Amino acid sequence: MGELTSAVLGGESRMWIGGRWVEAVSGEFVDVTDPATGEVVGRVPKGGGKDAARAIDAAFSAFPGWSRRTGAERASVLKRWAEAIRNHRQEISRILTLEQGKPLAESLEEADGAADFVEWYAEEAKRICGETLPGSRGNQRILVIRQPVGVAALITPWNYPATMVTRKMAAALAAGCTVVLKPASQTPLTAVALLKLLEEAGLPPGAANLVTGEAGAIGREMMADPRVRKVSFTGSTETGKKLIRASAERVKRLSLELGGNAPLIVFPDSDLERAVEATIGNKFENAGQMCNGINVLYVHESIVDRFSERLVSRVQSLRVGRGTEPGVRMGPLIDERNLRKVEALVEDAVRKGARVLTGGCRLTGEPHRSGTFYAPTVIGDVTLEMRLVHEEIFGPVAPVVPFREEGEVLARVNATPYGLAAYVFTRDVGRVFRMAENLEFGMVAVNGTSLSVPQAPFGGIKESGQGREGGRHGMEEFLHLKYISLNL
Ligand code: NAP
Repeated sequence: MGELTSAVLGGESRMWIGGRWVEAVSGEFVDVTDPATGEVVGRVPKGGGKDAARAIDAAFSAFPGWSRRTGAERASVLKRWAEAIRNHRQEISRILTLEQGKPLAESLEEADGAADFVEWYAEEAKRICGETLPGSRGNQRILVIRQPVGVAALITPWNYPATMVTRKMAAALAAGCTVVLKPASQTPLTAVALLKLLEEAGLPPGAANLVTGEAGAIGREMMADPRVRKVSFTGSTETGKKLIRASAERVKRLSLELGGNAPLIVFPDSDLERAVEATIGNKFENAGQMCNGINVLYVHESIVDRFSERLVSRVQSLRVGRGTEPGVRMGPLIDERNLRKVEALVEDAVRKGARVLTGGCRLTGEPHRSGTFYAPTVIGDVTLEMRLVHEEIFGPVAPVVPFREEGEVLARVNATPYGLAAYVFTRDVGRVFRMAENLEFGMVAVNGTSLSVPQAPFGGIKESGQGREGGRHGMEEFLHLKYISLNL
């Protein structure tokens, strides 16, 4: 075990507040468990409102110093952080797999992706530019400058414990904000590891703070304190709506990356092999627990049988097990609650006439006995009355629905309250544009299914959220505009 792994796994971690590693005011800890075995892999402080207040104090005190550094100075700290993450990629991925469950190969990819976000924002820190506008009178000059909003609260989910932290935090720090991070209770250890590396990279005390523990109490403090000018949240639509209501009191700026219901639409002129492989890569990544994960596969009726056959044969080759074991392609679901939800959605579909083409059940024998494993599943004869068409599945279940007309499938997939991501497979260039322009989603991928890259604005519309992460658009979320009118 490396130094970072032994500092985080197996023992009691601390929260990072004002540059010190501290216990919670309560003195209590909460267990972090491995979803593949149920074993405790570490413990973090059970922080609450008072701890959040301490962290906000620290971030507020650090703001003048950090925000007045030049972009190049902030960039050099972030570059060192990116390098440290890359140098510790093996350790980070091990911690990530043990608390989250995904296979080591996916965790390694995530650790690299986390470093890529930090590096990209390090470079962007130097490019916060303003504008000059023509005046309305001969003696008027107009400047528009961009300034960091202030203290930002960052709340992250359990499905991508590394990239969700760096995608928010690197953008905020690059912009000149100081931050308070509250990671998901199921996966706080990756955050602890990342922040230890940020400390080593030379971030000044208090510029970033970590609070673990009770979400409700910590969230309430973040929303109530007027010094927190911005909240960036990734998680469920339900929690997102609570934050919108709470933000009204202080008119707080929000970025929300919420749930999704991504369709994959396969037209008859598409490359079928490519569509199947892309489906495997997206739908079964992270055991289907991905906000932009495909929820329903709409396949043209003329190719639906061929497509389903190939998909089933590929799905049956996926090895399910502990993420730390070599050759494992899919790990467990995060917890019993998520597994029960997936079971209930499949049961509902079967009751209403769907046919399980492969999988369709919890895995209970060895080596799956102690974990929350669900078989990779493909379901046919799916109809619009079934819950899994409308609800976010968040599991390794691929429901296949045939369609006949382009207009019909477009209307159907747009008729959801969500609008995060959509995937289209076709070789017809006219259709590419018709679909891309008319799909009511924040992101559309054509002939592929991967979307999250540092330079692009990731995010949704409708009930999938507001604001963007990634790219220069992601940094705008942590900056406000100031218009200065000069009269000579
Ligand atoms: P969640 O329950 O909303 O939790 C997300 C985060 O919010 C966790 O850190 C959680 O802390 C915290 N939280 C919960 N209640 C809170 C409150 N009242 N105030 C402040 N913070 C609170 O969501 P989840 O079930 O973990 O995550 C799955 C959802 O996230 C899915 O719907 C998925 O689509 C969405 N997601 C979206 C994106 C995207 O980019 N659009 C990316 C990833 C995930 P605790 O863990 O301590 O409860």
